Amino acid sequence: MVAAPDEIDLETIAWRLGRLRIEEGGLEFAEGRIVVPSTKGGTIRVKAGLSVGRRRFTIAHELGHFVLHPRQGLERSDTTGNFTIWKNATEESEANIFAAELLMPPFLFTPRCLGPTPSLALLDSLARDFGTSLLATAFQYVTLTNEQVALVVSHGKTVKWFHRSKDFWPWIRMGEVHQHSAAGERLAGIAGDTARMVCTPAYAWLADFEADQEHDVMEDSRYLDWYDRTLTLLWLKDDLEE
Ligand SMILES: [Zn+2]
Repeated sequence: MVAAPDEIDLETIAWRLGRLRIEEGGLEFAEGRIVVPSTKGGTIRVKAGLSVGRRRFTIAHELGHFVLHPRQGLERSDTTGNFTIWKNATEESEANIFAAELLMPPFLFTPRCLGPTPSLALLDSLARDFGTSLLATAFQYVTLTNEQVALVVSHGKTVKWFHRSKDFWPWIRMGEVHQHSAAGERLAGIAGDTARMVCTPAYAWLADFEADQEHDVMEDSRYLDWYDRTLTLLWLKDDLEE
């Protein structure tokens, strides 16, 4: 019955799913917590003072645990780091992807991905429209768009994981963030966040391009202090095979 993102009413969904109440505050180290003592119901607790997007994503993530990982006496807490896990075979990854699907269902999200030029500013506006986090929006965008884009998440100087759209064919180089990338320049203190798509040598991000001096990729990188991660959106604007 949902026709717009703001009709995805998490309070109602939580109640209908398992008589779960949503409460705020009382968490010292965690951002989210779910406690379901019995089939009569339970509580999802979120840290006080979160932004709308963070709050909704946290609730949706806890709902993911409730639906995908049911246990008698379910009780688990999520710290910030759990929301950065998307690409491995863990329950955290499953709960994050569940939350992205719940808040950004393809029938509402995909039409908004088609057309505009890829950038983190576009993802900011999608995150606002859907009331969710930027990282989750970036993941869902790369999953559903027709553009040749990839999301790269790094921690300090280390590339942690990447996620490619269906047409983004090169592999991302793992290991250290390259000093010639915009993210690398930021780490070196030479530059700040890019705040737009900028041209970066392909070899700075792509595996098997070490000897290639000709091609460029477009890069938009931003440091997210909430997670202590750098988020990079790559875009193959030009054909790399020419
Ligand atoms: Zn979790």
